[in-house]
Amino acid sequence: MSEPRLSDEFAPVAAAMLERLRAATGILIPTHINVDGDTLASVLALSRALSGLGKAVVPVVSDGKVPHALQFLCAADSPILYTGQALPPFDLIFFADITGPSRLGPLAQALGDRLTPEHLFNVDHHVSNERFAALNLVDVGAAATAEVLYLLLRGWGIPITAELATPLLAGVMTDTLSFQTPSTTARTLHVAADLVAAGAPLEHLADALFRAKPLSTARLFGAVVDSARLDDGLLCAEVTQAMLAETGAQPSETEDVVSYLSGVEEAAVFALFYERADGWRVSLRSSTDAIDVSRLAAEFGGGGHARAAGLTLVGGRALRTRFVQRAKTVIAAARETVAAGA
Ligand code: 5GP
Ligand code: MN
Repeated sequence: MSEPRLSDEFAPVAAAMLERLRAATGILIPTHINVDGDTLASVLALSRALSGLGKAVVPVVSDGKVPHALQFLCAADSPILYTGQALPPFDLIFFADITGPSRLGPLAQALGDRLTPEHLFNVDHHVSNERFAALNLVDVGAAATAEVLYLLLRGWGIPITAELATPLLAGVMTDTLSFQTPSTTARTLHVAADLVAAGAPLEHLADALFRAKPLSTARLFGAVVDSARLDDGLLCAEVTQAMLAETGAQPSETEDVVSYLSGVEEAAVFALFYERADGWRVSLRSSTDAIDVSRLAAEFGGGGHARAAGLTLVGGRALRTRFVQRAKTVIAAARETVAAGA
């Protein structure tokens, strides 16, 4: 098989980014809020690669929180855990795995008018990306932003050392649930093979990302599975403040339960509601190509991918009921379309 590469359509933007990078001195590299493996991997790989080019890099965790299960990845980097503090100087902001500036949460407010398109790079793989920068490289055919970054960095002539390969493989593995999602392509597997050859520790990453867990995670798993209810093809489950208090778990300790419940055969869509003081954050998964949950999420201000998306509902029960009704309508419409086509 030939070398994995970015599609030719991205060559001009990749070249323009490299040109603009030469002039940059300080580069802010933020995660999105509710940190996942791909956003953290992207920030770590970019920080390491660009500091290797002699740039002053400012990696920032935009909501200040790295989930317990991902802390091992950034032990050597100490990114800034943003809680409102002043930031070191920068003249470029490198967005990776971020659909739009609002996904920086509190950091977006602090950056204010520094978020002008000329100062932004935007590298992503989400269909709902807002293409908010002067230079946008959005490859929706990639399974992870880490997959795009591997191809971009290599295309720029940057040697892929084990220090770069390790977070990049972690990003690919988390976004593909270890190469199981339909977004996984031959190119994804080829990139992963290159990363293993470059020194990324596959066995250690598989264990740390998918098997090792504190007891609190296992207990939370039980409580969340117990809360699941199926209605008209929609499976809903909860992570309440009471569950977190009882199990001692953090809200981020739910990755396993999301993938477990999203496999329930009787459901077309799975929604996990995380209780917050002002409403709910919602994780959405679709079990069928016939239902694009990023569109459902977008109707309520969220976004993501066709089969995995999210949103936040700020409001009370009536708003949540409206969301649930809308989700059921979308499921019913998809079933009618499938039935009509059959
Ligand atoms: P998760 O359910 O794992 O938190 O998120 C699933 C996917 O949807 C991820 O790719 C995530 O980045 C995206 N996502 C989750 N919440 C939001 C949101 O509120 N807005 C947008 N634009 N994307 C989201
Ligand atoms: Mn991603």
